[in-house]
Amino acid sequence: AAPVAHPLADEVAALLESFGAELPRQAEGSCIVRSPLTGELIVRVQETSPDEARAAIGRAHDAFLAWRQVPAPRRGELVRLLGEELRANKAALGRLVTIEVGKIVSEGLGEVQEMIDICDFAVGLSRQLYGLTMGSERADHSLMEQWHPAGIVGVISAFNFPVAVWSWNAALAFVCGDSVVWKPSEKTPLTAIAVQALAERVIARFPEAPEGLSTLILGGRDVGEVLVDDQRVPVVSATGSTAMGRVVGQRVAARFARAILELGGNNASIVCPSADLDLALCAIAFAAMGTAGQRCTTLRRLFVHDSVYDALVPRLKQVYASVSVGNPLEGDALVGPLIDEAAYTGMERALAEAREVGGIVHGGGRHTHGVAPGGFYVRPALVEMPAQVGPMLHETFAPILYVMRVRSFDEALDLQNGVPQGLSSSIFSNDMRETSRFLSATGSDCGIANVNMGSSGAEIGGAFGGEKETGGGRESGSDAWKAYMRRQTTAINYGRAMPLAQGVKFEI
Ligand code: NAD
Repeated sequence: AAPVAHPLADEVAALLESFGAELPRQAEGSCIVRSPLTGELIVRVQETSPDEARAAIGRAHDAFLAWRQVPAPRRGELVRLLGEELRANKAALGRLVTIEVGKIVSEGLGEVQEMIDICDFAVGLSRQLYGLTMGSERADHSLMEQWHPAGIVGVISAFNFPVAVWSWNAALAFVCGDSVVWKPSEKTPLTAIAVQALAERVIARFPEAPEGLSTLILGGRDVGEVLVDDQRVPVVSATGSTAMGRVVGQRVAARFARAILELGGNNASIVCPSADLDLALCAIAFAAMGTAGQRCTTLRRLFVHDSVYDALVPRLKQVYASVSVGNPLEGDALVGPLIDEAAYTGMERALAEAREVGGIVHGGGRHTHGVAPGGFYVRPALVEMPAQVGPMLHETFAPILYVMRVRSFDEALDLQNGVPQGLSSSIFSNDMRETSRFLSATGSDCGIANVNMGSSGAEIGGAFGGEKETGGGRESGSDAWKAYMRRQTTAINYGRAMPLAQGVKFEI
């Protein structure tokens, strides 16, 4: 039976067509794609079978064998063309992100901009895959390291950055001489199909780029595990929950491959007595409520010094009470929907748990005014907590901000670091001692530490990732590319003698 035609499905079909892809209209597919904007069924997508996934990995392996021989700056040229394609299709792809994930329009566009930015970065990188030379301790010897392509990079991505995460990995992988097999979230196959179509379009017109350089496999955990377990995949970059990373990390380690794990966060900000409170208010509002609380870097815990608590928190409550919630395609709401009903029940559960341990909840609850009944819209919640207990120790992927009054910087820092996750953190202060301490070895224990900014919204130039249960992986800028290559240390003897290192003698 053909699915019933309705406006969003038709628009998605037209968008996909503009990328040269088709809406896979199937009555039977096991991935059920609904738009969180309205809850409407867009399409059912067929999962890739394990055999098809293994065949895709085979094609990617063959592609790698050819691609690794293409000079790195030429590989960069392919990524430059990919960036051009993304520039030309930014509006359409951004809109598709909004329809499939529910992001507000500027965030959908921002996600595509991030893809363009990482392509630009990778183009430059293609001429900067630098190794070191070291002084050899032996006469007439040289010692150096080189970086070679690693192989297939398996990319497993989460629903909340349905396309940017692929580009963080793929743009680097392509210039590093690797091929990519991508398993996107089962909740977001359509944006992945669109991006794959764009990538294939670029690959098809690039003479040295082999078919199979960029491959897409669709489905849930089972399909992901085919990628995780395949010996032909030396690097698995997995973004998602800590529960997922715990499984994936161990399975990848069991076959001695490399995992880049980008997992859940439980991010905090500290507001100090000297903070610029107007600036802090704006930064906290975006970091905590933006993307409807569905970023890995979303601000979830706020520690406010006693001396400024009553100047800041009542204003913050007002912002929470007045922020606009709604369908981003029908107005200029700042907070769109949660991804699905499970996210909504998770938020309700966390708020109930917070109340049980003495939290005072402001806001929260389902928002139904002016939105389609099938969408799960919520009022963001601000929860004043007596102590860091209960749900405050976990990541709930929804707009809940737990706020606590603290009496000293040290107390705030201990609380900030006192959770299992270690992704992002920030401090609002104009006191150099506090900000410098925050950034020091005894300060924030997170992969990201910001000053006078929120915890959310990273730039691609830095290496992105976090410590502890966030998984320890780094992606995107700085020297994150090294995880996508294999290092080879090379010693050359250009003399006529055969000295051994450390003065060892072995005369025959
Ligand atoms: P999720 O863990 O449910 O799924 C993520 C991906 O992992 C999906 O593609 C899923 O199919 C796959 N998967 C799950 N179990 C697997 C297994 N055993 N083997 C192989 N693949 C498996 O996460 P989600 O709900 O899509 O995304 C939200 C989570 O992602 C949050 O915890 C968020 O903090 C995290 N996240 C982290 C980052 C980061 O960079 N640190 C970025 C975005 C999202």
